[in-house]
Amino acid sequence: MRTALPRPGLREVAPYEAPQLDVRVRLNTNECPHPLPDAFREDLARAVRDLPLNRYPQREADDLRARLAELNGHSPEGTWAANGSNEVIQQLLQAYGGPGRRIAVFEPTYALHPRLAWATNGEVVRVHLAPPWEIGPAHVAEALALEPHVVFVCSPNNPTGNSQPVELVAELASRSDALVVVDEAYVEFGGVTAAGLLPSHPNVVVVRTFSKAFALAGARVGYCLATPEVVEDLRRVRLPYHLSAVTQAVALVALDHRADALSILDAVRTQRDRILAALPALDAEAYPSDANFVLFRPPRPAADAWRGLLDRGVLVRDLSSQIPESLRVTAGTSEEVHAFLSALEEVLA
Ligand code: PMP
Repeated sequence: MRTALPRPGLREVAPYEAPQLDVRVRLNTNECPHPLPDAFREDLARAVRDLPLNRYPQREADDLRARLAELNGHSPEGTWAANGSNEVIQQLLQAYGGPGRRIAVFEPTYALHPRLAWATNGEVVRVHLAPPWEIGPAHVAEALALEPHVVFVCSPNNPTGNSQPVELVAELASRSDALVVVDEAYVEFGGVTAAGLLPSHPNVVVVRTFSKAFALAGARVGYCLATPEVVEDLRRVRLPYHLSAVTQAVALVALDHRADALSILDAVRTQRDRILAALPALDAEAYPSDANFVLFRPPRPAADAWRGLLDRGVLVRDLSSQIPESLRVTAGTSEEVHAFLSALEEVLA
């Protein structure tokens, strides 16, 4: 019997996973805590029922891209959609990363950026940030000295919550030929978009998702705003018919109901600010956040606090492998946040 071996080093890398546990309060993956409104569900059911699923979907997702372009005041040719922003990022790396190419990340940041850079056989180069995790001119210089082909900026940054200065994104883009990918998965909750740079900086790409503010993590829809040239390059690497007709239909219905989705943003921000205000009283150090989550350091080992919360039915994210002794909690509903804060108070008592 012969067994095939994968590419060298593959098995030294653990799969990317966050625990999906059946607990009462799940605050570990930055999802929207509110269920979708009934009117949305009904429109969705109708839209999906009427789909001609015997046929392949619109290969270029033209209708969806046109709507997204209109929404963002951008050209449809420079707008691209895929299965979650993760797939958009993967496609960007397939096109602009790869063997012999350097991909710069400012860490700590979203772990999928370096992971997808590695998965697409690029070389990851890192610039380290210190609290409060803001990119400064010296970090920009350090990144540029690495002569990257792709630079990721996550703003607001996951897992730290802070936004990055748009003027430094502009610096990165104007002082190099790198593709500067600005991951704005959480931008609807706060911070400033880098989309204003697009007309003057053709090497900037802004990536967005329906998974957070649109409350559609389960539908897997993400998109990017770029130049038509970059989008052409993405078309060279994407799988034919990569975005299913069902996904395109869900996204279009979601855009029809956009006002509902955006109306819950205030509620989410209120809960985030409630968490930020409550943590210091529990002697936990909390970092300011423009997103729908809060990074904090409990005043006892993070692993113990994480376990104590889980024992009380509250799941948060243990980020200690990235940032020593740190946990991240998503701003859930008012009840969920109450459950989190009471459980934490007990755990720390
Ligand atoms: N970017 C960031 C910064 C994220 O935190 C996430 C999800 N946690 C994503 C992208 C991916 O989101 P999705 O693929 O669901 O669009």
